[in-house]
This record gives sequence, C-alpha cells and structure tokens, in this order.
Amino acid sequence: MTTGKKVFLAAPRGFCAGVERAIDAVELALKTCGPPVYVRKQIVHNRHVVQSLTERGAVFVDDVAEVPEGALVIFSAHGVAPSVHEEAERRRLRTVDATCPLVTKVHMEAQRFAREDFDILLIGHADHEEVEGTAGEAPDHVQVVDTADDVAAVRVRDPGRVVWLSQTTLSVDEAGERVDQLRARFPDLQDPPSDDICYATSNRQTAVKAMAQRCDVVLVVGSINSSNSVRLVEVALQYGAGAAHLIDDHTDLDQRWLEGGLTVGVTSGASVPEVLVAGVLSALAKHGWTDVEEVTTAQESQVFALPRELRAPRASALRAEPGEHDESAE
Ligand code: SF4
Repeated sequence: MTTGKKVFLAAPRGFCAGVERAIDAVELALKTCGPPVYVRKQIVHNRHVVQSLTERGAVFVDDVAEVPEGALVIFSAHGVAPSVHEEAERRRLRTVDATCPLVTKVHMEAQRFAREDFDILLIGHADHEEVEGTAGEAPDHVQVVDTADDVAAVRVRDPGRVVWLSQTTLSVDEAGERVDQLRARFPDLQDPPSDDICYATSNRQTAVKAMAQRCDVVLVVGSINSSNSVRLVEVALQYGAGAAHLIDDHTDLDQRWLEGGLTVGVTSGASVPEVLVAGVLSALAKHGWTDVEEVTTAQESQVFALPRELRAPRASALRAEPGEHDESAE
C-alpha cells in the first residue's frame, strides 16, 4: 500500500575528507599516546563527535593556555592563527595540526597576498574559528566582510591592489553576492587563484538545491555551530522547501513539522556521522516515511593523508614524556 509519504535523501551528505582526517587524527593520537589528548576547540563542529571522543579520553579546551606544559594538543580542522602555534611552542606542547588542507590553502593565499602588500577582503563570519585563523595570518592586511553593511564599511589603501578570499563553508550564492558588491566598489578586485569554498560545502548545497522544491520540509542533521550545516538550512529555504530545520539527531525531530507534509528531504552537514542520519530515517519510517529515494548530484572520492606529525617516523616523537624533546619531530 502506498502512503504517498516520501523521503528524498541528499547525496553527497555527511562527512567530508577534512572531517574524516581530523577525527582519525584524534583517534590515532589516543591510540598512539594514550589519554589524555588535548584538542584545541571542537575538532569538528558536531556535538556527537565531540562527546564520543571525550568518552575515549580527548579533552577539549578553548585555549592552549589550558593545556599542561609538555602535553599533546591537536589543532582542529578549522585551523589556527600563527600566534596559536607560537603560544604552543612557548609552552613546549607536542602538537598535531589537523587543519583541513583546504583551509590551509586559504591561509597560504592570505600569506602570499599579504607579502605582495594587497588589502585582503576575507568574506566570512567574523566569530568563526576558521576566519579567526585565516585573518590571523595577516592581521594588518585582512578585513572580514560578512554583511552588505561590511562591504560599505571597507576602506582600502590602494583600490588597484585588493583581493577577496573566503571562508570554506559559506553559501556559494551568498558569497557570490558579496563578491559582486565588493567588485561594484572596487572594479579591479582580484579573485583568489581558485575557489575557496570547498568541494564538500558546494556539493552538499547543490544536492539540497536539487531536491528542495519538491520537499514540504527539509531536515538538516547538524549542530548549531556548524557553519556548513546552517547554510544547508538557508539554501533549502531559498530553493523552495516549505520549511527547513536543523537537528542534532532524531530526538530533535518535532512531529508537528511533519503534519500535513508528505515529502521530507533529509541531508547532513560535513561534520555529521552517517549513523545520525540513519537514526532520523528510522524515526521517519516509524511514522510511515519508508519510501526513500536518494537524490545524487555528485560522487566524492577526496581523501586527505593524515597530519604529518602522525605519520611514521615522526609519530614516535609524540610519545615523548613532557619535558623530553625528540629532534626527529622537527
Ligand atoms: Fe575541509 Fe571543506 Fe570539510 Fe571544512 S568542510 S573540513 S574545508 S573539506
């Protein structure tokens, strides 16, 4: 018997290569060195991932100042400013840098354009860790541009030497709008050498765009501090979904959202384990949504190598007791 109830399941969704690498880094550090392993900030922006690693001995801190001298600390996928590396060195911490290589690419662009004395307009959210890290590469050259008002407030030294860069997890459309507004003010605005918004962010948004119009409601599995997950909710609404909600897991599902709706879209942010999506699909199935169709707009095969500090033979240096120093780690 057909109930007319339908689920569209976006693909790609969930873990990206940068998140898998960051989580693998913490797990391997725990295995290699044993707990506690300190992690500066949430390794990835997902409550369940952080909770599960905490249970296995990871200790999440906001600042390297909270890490005992000589201990092992991992920097999260979102990246850190050079000042954080310097502080860790002063405290003789053993460090693993799990910054996503695609974030590192933007850091290197910031360094390069600062060296060439450009004014750098960094499109992104000022309070996001990734933006703090990228801006920290060249604080004298970078201005963060979030809203249209920020565009109006930008002041540059030479309108002929201005470049824009961006946070990796923005809405593709919104970032494009901001670039157009900046270019209207600075016609010679230079583009970054390649797209800063990463493949995972843009692929997840494309999949949501493809199904949004057919959905009465879209459920985005992800945490509130996950930029790319929040963007998926916005994209779903912009592209025609009747409603869209961000949920950490199936327990956040409110039955009232489903009343009168027949077609439900499901997707998840780049830091979300697939088991949480499976939980949402099971909860929907219990209420009659058993007909699930995947909407696939891209295939992903990206894989990143582990942080170099965790690759042999360097990994042995991480096991050093506090105070000992293994030159092979340099
Ligand atoms: Fe890297 Fe993009 Fe994943 Fe962020 S969302 S960790 S930039 S691949």
